[in-house]
Amino acid sequence: MTKISERLKKGFFRFIVVIASISMVGIMITQLYWVKKAVDFKEEQFNNGVLIAMKTVVNQLLNDHTDSTLVMMKANPNCIVLKTKLTDIIDKNTLFKLIKTELDCLQIKNNYEYGVYDRRTGIFLMGSYLNYEKEIMNSQHNVSLSCLCDSDQYFLGIYFPHQTSQILLNMIGWLILSAFFIIIVIISFWYTVISMFRQKRISEMKSDFVNNMTHEFKTPISTISLASEMLLRPNVYESAEKTQKYASIIFDENTRLENQVERVLQISILDKGDMKIRPKEIDIHHIINKVVDHFKLGLKKRNGKIKIELNAMNSIILADRVHIVNVISNLLDNAKKYTDRNPEIVISTRNVKDGILIDIQDNGIGISSENQKQIFKKLYRVPTGNIHNVKGFGIGLYYVKTMIEAHGGYIRINSELGRGSKFELYLPFDPIIKEESYE
Ligand code: ADP
Repeated sequence: MTKISERLKKGFFRFIVVIASISMVGIMITQLYWVKKAVDFKEEQFNNGVLIAMKTVVNQLLNDHTDSTLVMMKANPNCIVLKTKLTDIIDKNTLFKLIKTELDCLQIKNNYEYGVYDRRTGIFLMGSYLNYEKEIMNSQHNVSLSCLCDSDQYFLGIYFPHQTSQILLNMIGWLILSAFFIIIVIISFWYTVISMFRQKRISEMKSDFVNNMTHEFKTPISTISLASEMLLRPNVYESAEKTQKYASIIFDENTRLENQVERVLQISILDKGDMKIRPKEIDIHHIINKVVDHFKLGLKKRNGKIKIELNAMNSIILADRVHIVNVISNLLDNAKKYTDRNPEIVISTRNVKDGILIDIQDNGIGISSENQKQIFKKLYRVPTGNIHNVKGFGIGLYYVKTMIEAHGGYIRINSELGRGSKFELYLPFDPIIKEESYE
């Protein structure tokens, strides 16, 4: 039932994220559509403005022409006004002035080329059109001069080389504001989705942790309860051998319980940042030998082997003995735990600049490169499915990394799925301990 509701919840969560992403893309497309519409509208406004300006210019020219015709007619009432050449009708300075005045009204300065041309021959009669003849002729700003001249082949054309950029420049404030808000919305959306996924993963890891912890505590507690029940039976407590057997079971299970509690406590201490580091001169080789001696007992049960190669010439460093012991034990425990064969472990040391390197190599199940980035995170456990049912809390490597870094060192991993892993620890001879956070 709970699994079904969990699956439903997961499905719903994904559904919400997909819907939100689609809406987000929809909003962005709508916004871009409106921006494009606004640009088109501005362009249309500009074109209409230019058309009105050009018509005004032609009207002014027509007025001038009519005036001079009237003068001629007044001077010689009998004469019939003959067809005149266009260059006689339009004075190029007047044309320049008229265009300039009209375009100035539209706040367009200098960024235009114009010309009066014969559409049939493509010959330009006047204007400022250097190298822009084709553009002027093909420009959308063209008006016929048929009202001035008895022919419909003459046109006045204006071309704006920077029309689009000029329109965009006029709208730059709005465009920047729009882009700014779109970017803010995208970043906030991305951040929200990432945080939601992170929160979801953390809550899943926490519930896994609680499940594992309950299981890990339940087993020793029920064993202790059974063994103590046995001890209360007269046939058992009367036999020294049996009493010793059950008492040692209780002792072992109690030690196991203590270790579990210790490991769970490590995480809360790390979180609070009140882990105490008391650096003293310690011999890493000595510590490795001691830890391995203890570790060998458990290794025997799994028919495992461990090889020690202590190659460092200088193995004395300044560090906290307790934490370094825990770090090496954690890594050795993992090397033994995460293998489906008989464990074969090699622990070696060598000196590097200003410190010592400790390598712990195993023949275990290995870790994929994707998981290698995650394993040092708090509570993270590689999802192993049903194949490798190894219990743990996902704290060990988080503790190891935090401690090694608190000693001014680092930890690296080199691993291949199915082929084993190698953890490389570096510890400096004389560390700069991060006092504030750990003292
Ligand atoms: P725990 O062992 O309690 O789960 P750790 O923090 O020690 O937590 O390890 C995190 C995860 O990294 C483990 O769940 C395991 O999948 C993987 N891991 C750690 N050490 C090894 C190793 N030597 N070989 C393969 N996988 C490992």
